[in-house]
Amino acid sequence: MKIAIIGAGLAGLSCALTLEKHGQTADIFEQRKEVGFGYTIAELMTPILHAPIDDAVQYFSENHDIHLKPTYNIQKIHVHSENESAYVEGNIGFINMRGSHEDAYEKQLAEQLVHSKIHMDSHVTYNEIAKEYTHVVLATGDPQATQQIQPYEVAFKSCFAGAIVRGNFVRNEVHTWFNNYFAPKGMGYLLPHSKTEATLVIVYPQYEQEWVDKRSHFWEEMLAQAAQTLDQELIIEEEFTITDYMVGRCNYPRIGNTFFAGNCFGGITPFLGFGQTGSILSGIYAAQDICGLGDYETLCKPLYKDYEDSLVLRRAIEGLSNHQLDLVTKSLHNSMVEKIVTQPNMSVLKGLSHMLKPFTSKEVK
Ligand SMILES: Cc1cc2nc3c(=O)[nH]c(=O)nc-3n(C[C@H](O)[C@H](O)[C@H](O)COP(=O)(O)OP(=O)(O)OC[C@H]3O[C@@H](n4cnc5c(N)ncnc54)[C@H](O)[C@@H]3O)c2cc1C
Repeated sequence: MKIAIIGAGLAGLSCALTLEKHGQTADIFEQRKEVGFGYTIAELMTPILHAPIDDAVQYFSENHDIHLKPTYNIQKIHVHSENESAYVEGNIGFINMRGSHEDAYEKQLAEQLVHSKIHMDSHVTYNEIAKEYTHVVLATGDPQATQQIQPYEVAFKSCFAGAIVRGNFVRNEVHTWFNNYFAPKGMGYLLPHSKTEATLVIVYPQYEQEWVDKRSHFWEEMLAQAAQTLDQELIIEEEFTITDYMVGRCNYPRIGNTFFAGNCFGGITPFLGFGQTGSILSGIYAAQDICGLGDYETLCKPLYKDYEDSLVLRRAIEGLSNHQLDLVTKSLHNSMVEKIVTQPNMSVLKGLSHMLKPFTSKEVK
């Protein structure tokens, strides 16, 4: 077997690591000069949409010998709507770094590789690679690569605006804002990297061109709102915007000996846009299939299910007005809700769906 992996991100590197553990070596091609994501930001790793995985870090370590060190564990999520604020406490997940940060997950994964070679600064195309290799894992993080080979169902495209900000933060507390005025049908969030640095982002679907055009304006509103909520001035270090970020899923996880992993597969759960856990899982599953330890399509079935359930929930919450978002936020004060969101092995999708039922017409079965 001659195996190529296109993309040294979460999916590609998890795939390479799993291959190594089962005696195979891959050539990994990465277009950048260093591994991974083009944005140096904090991300949230919460397994809440991947039941029964309760703690993804522990799960990868104990079940797949893949070891990740998050920056911090999250003990409290603050939820802010236009006129209400509430919080949920418990073991909610982890904050981790991405991109060029020394603790970025992709760097941690690359350091665990023993035999596989990462060819840096190598922007390759699928057609070039497919000629030379018996097996190709497409893990470029960009579903456009998938679309050149097979249908990829796009649920929506997202627009991001964000920055690394300086201020005073509580490391294990995350803030989220649900307000259609500055994140239409989307959300804003603040993830601390340290006591003095955090990632602040708005993300929303690009249903209207006007929303894309107004992203700088929305971002200013988010910044002002965050400063008001946290009662401090936030100093911007590095700003970024991203448009046309696709959330969707491919029709076939595998075509012949080509495997679609990470975002190229459909690793992002559309509800809140979490893609790290699904991307790592798809990389592992692709490797298991290549090594004859399972069937990729079958292994991916729970990921498709998570995706579909999460999409139903997203479509439901997209219809909520600011007033309804206030009512949902208010209902978070209910201790039952806290149980739903933080209980181990609980299907949070079902729990959240149940909680949102009074405000929406659809529920995850
Ligand atoms: C701003 C932002 C915030 C996010 N926040 C969260 C969050 O908080 N929690 C969460 O779970 N998910 C989050 N996500 C989603 C998550 O980051 C992705 O789902 C995940 O990184 C996808 O992993 P991947 O391996 O498919 O792609 P990536 O990790 O992006 O890796 C793809 C790699 O392929 C390389 N590449 C691309 N094209 C080529 C080519 N032709 N040749 C060679 N190399 C190539 C890229 O340079 C990159 O290194 C966020 C996404 C964005 C954009």
